[in-house]
Amino acid sequence: MNSRDPRALALLSVVVPVFNEEASVDLLIPRLFALFEREGITGEVICVDDGSRDRSWDRLVAWQATYPNLTLVSLSRNFGKEIAIAAGLDIADGNAVVLMDSDLQHPPEVIPEFLAQWHTGHDIVYGVRRNRDQDGALRRAFSRAFYRVFNTLSHTPITPDAGDFRLMDRKVVEAIRRMRERARFMKGIYSWVGFKSHAVDFDVVERVHGKSSFSPSRLFNLAFDGIISFSTVPLRFAMYAGASIALLSIALGTYYMVRTMLFGIDVPGFASIIVSTLALSGFTMLQMGLMGLYLGRIYDEVKARPLYLVREIVGRPAAMQKLESASPALSHLKDLV
Ligand code: UDP
Ligand code: MG
Repeated sequence: MNSRDPRALALLSVVVPVFNEEASVDLLIPRLFALFEREGITGEVICVDDGSRDRSWDRLVAWQATYPNLTLVSLSRNFGKEIAIAAGLDIADGNAVVLMDSDLQHPPEVIPEFLAQWHTGHDIVYGVRRNRDQDGALRRAFSRAFYRVFNTLSHTPITPDAGDFRLMDRKVVEAIRRMRERARFMKGIYSWVGFKSHAVDFDVVERVHGKSSFSPSRLFNLAFDGIISFSTVPLRFAMYAGASIALLSIALGTYYMVRTMLFGIDVPGFASIIVSTLALSGFTMLQMGLMGLYLGRIYDEVKARPLYLVREIVGRPAAMQKLESASPALSHLKDLV
């Protein structure tokens, strides 16, 4: 233990986003509380139901009767995992907070290892998947390429294979809470806040129930959004490429002018005109599309809508107050709790 920072654990919060996981929550909730008991951890679990369409919410409410330290938040619709996590972090009270999936792919038994690292003074302890063999070769290649492109284009480097399974010190959580952006590329956010980080290897467990919500196309969009969120290099690249083409056209124009003065006009030249016109208009459209992406992003953020809306809270009443201050548009919910 660090003498400068003794880090007594007053409360550990475990934040779990839940989307259509009725079978998994029945296994996860008792397993988490059994772990707390075994390890002598004072812990709370916060489950954020992200608009599940199955019986997940009913199952969670049933478990709440057994475990008073289980706080449940139900969002008004499916907002996506990143936003569900934001809602959970908004009410997490622990001086250390663990994020994990509800599908049992993140083994709760790694949490004591996370805590041991936190005790030694690390502010973020993140899980790194040891095995990626359940992913196909194509997905692995795509993910490698993504990390390479992202880290080349962005000033916020991200660690390959580190996901949302992690422990964060209270001050990290408070920093992330202040980031209210709608496009939430979590890997970038974790890296942007900084702090002392440490990696712990873990084995991803095969999904037992249900199926992943992240299809290849959703993953591709996520990767693209991540780059747009954390880099403006594509914009600059378009500008440089535009400038180079403009310079090239001036040089070419001068060359043709001089040549015409010396040797007179010669007719051939359709090919070069067509090719350059196509190349230029193609490039202009590409550049406009790119600007449109950033513009769309600005539009989304400038509307400043609340990050999420809450339908119901079960458990700790104080959670309501916190959500209200995080998202003032929720004040109408006061009567519910
Ligand atoms: N999840 C969520 N909202 C969504 C999609 C997923 O809260 O829109 C949750 C899901 O319940 C799980 C976690 O996010 O706890 C990871 O989802 P999934 O297992 O589908 O992703 P994968 O493990 O394939 O990356
Ligand atoms: Mg999963």
